[in-house]
Amino acid sequence: MSIALHLKWGGARVQLVEAGTLGGGCSQLGGGWVAAQGRRNQSQLAFALDSIGYYPELLARIGTDAGFRRAGSFLLLETEEQVSQRRTFLADQMRLPGYDGFEFLDLKQLGEIEPAIRSPRIIAGTYRAKDCAIDPPALCDGLASAIRAEGIAVAEGARVEGLVRSGSGWTVRSTVGDFVADAVVIAAGPQVAPLAGMAGLDLPLNLISGQIMTTEPQAPYVKALVVVMHNHAIPDCPARDLRQGADGRLWIGTVNHHGSGDAKVRRGDTDIIRREMSALFPELADIPFTHGYAGTRPLAEDGLPCYGAAGDGLFIAAPMSGIAEAAAAGRTMAELVITGTSAALPQAFSPLRLVPGAARGTGQ
Ligand SMILES: Cc1cc2nc3c(=O)[nH]c(=O)nc-3n(C[C@H](O)[C@H](O)[C@H](O)COP(=O)(O)OP(=O)(O)OC[C@H]3O[C@@H](n4cnc5c(N)ncnc54)[C@H](O)[C@@H]3O)c2cc1C
Repeated sequence: MSIALHLKWGGARVQLVEAGTLGGGCSQLGGGWVAAQGRRNQSQLAFALDSIGYYPELLARIGTDAGFRRAGSFLLLETEEQVSQRRTFLADQMRLPGYDGFEFLDLKQLGEIEPAIRSPRIIAGTYRAKDCAIDPPALCDGLASAIRAEGIAVAEGARVEGLVRSGSGWTVRSTVGDFVADAVVIAAGPQVAPLAGMAGLDLPLNLISGQIMTTEPQAPYVKALVVVMHNHAIPDCPARDLRQGADGRLWIGTVNHHGSGDAKVRRGDTDIIRREMSALFPELADIPFTHGYAGTRPLAEDGLPCYGAAGDGLFIAAPMSGIAEAAAAGRTMAELVITGTSAALPQAFSPLRLVPGAARGTGQ
């Protein structure tokens, strides 16, 4: 949706073809992290920082705040080995010019900023005050409203079933009819690879399905985004993350199934989330979960997102952290489609890096 809006703002005539309803995909249920501290690669880090910086302007333009705020983010550590890994990681991240990194804090210092962090299992943590949180459903609603207000043509309930080259453009075959376009952007979450396949592009993307739980609105519990570093000693260790939305609901996650597109809320996964999170945050032991959400996202072998050109008039957007990147991705992808280049879109994200023998374009 962000790409469609930016295309329209850039002067393009846009047709959105959506199998379900606008904003009804995985984006509705993201953890709401718009954070830089976990980005493992320099390109990803630069792109996340770009997105964090641009979000306020985008949200102001579409007339919603979507709960966006500078919440800060914590990554909590349970072992000395993790502390040392994190120091190496920071040294690598600091190679990015202008990046100001994150702080190392001990348990007492962590608790001074975020009193809910007090489990003796935590020995230290890293904190980045400039990381942000957003409310994904509100973001989706805001983008969908802006799309309608801009008069972008939207076909909902229109499943794309074929992509056929026609002249110098494309014919998009859908369950509600054909659409002809000079350029096609495939931004279909877990369906990116099958759709790219229809256009003759074999994109080796894996799938990860993830489950996250929410509660009723609670009294203030955490201000920041909180995640505990993966611990190999814990069987079935989930990505132990916690966020409190602007409406007071807690978002508690996340069990990820690598290699699976079978997104289902499972009792066993709910139990794992409860078990591991209440071991660190005892107050969560008895809070009823009111909803479980499960969704699937694509992931390339190298862990980087796919954004870029994939041949004449064909473009791909397949993120793993599509909420965090939505602002920068919308702006840069639209620029790429309209002008043929975008300096702020890392070459490392080119989908053609995954296609043996394919030459990447000169400019992303
Ligand atoms: C549990 C969980 C937590 C997450 N937490 C975070 C987080 O904290 N921060 C973050 O940045 N990211 C997070 N993510 C990832 C993030 O949600 C996704 O990267 C992002 O939503 C992807 O957006 P998208 O628009 O590419 O895909 P989607 O939102 O899935 O949208 C794809 C759309 O394509 C449509 N579509 C599919 N096939 C077709 C077809 N054949 N024809 C027409 N339309 C089609 C779908 O109906 C859907 O509306 C999380 C994901 C999960 C599962």
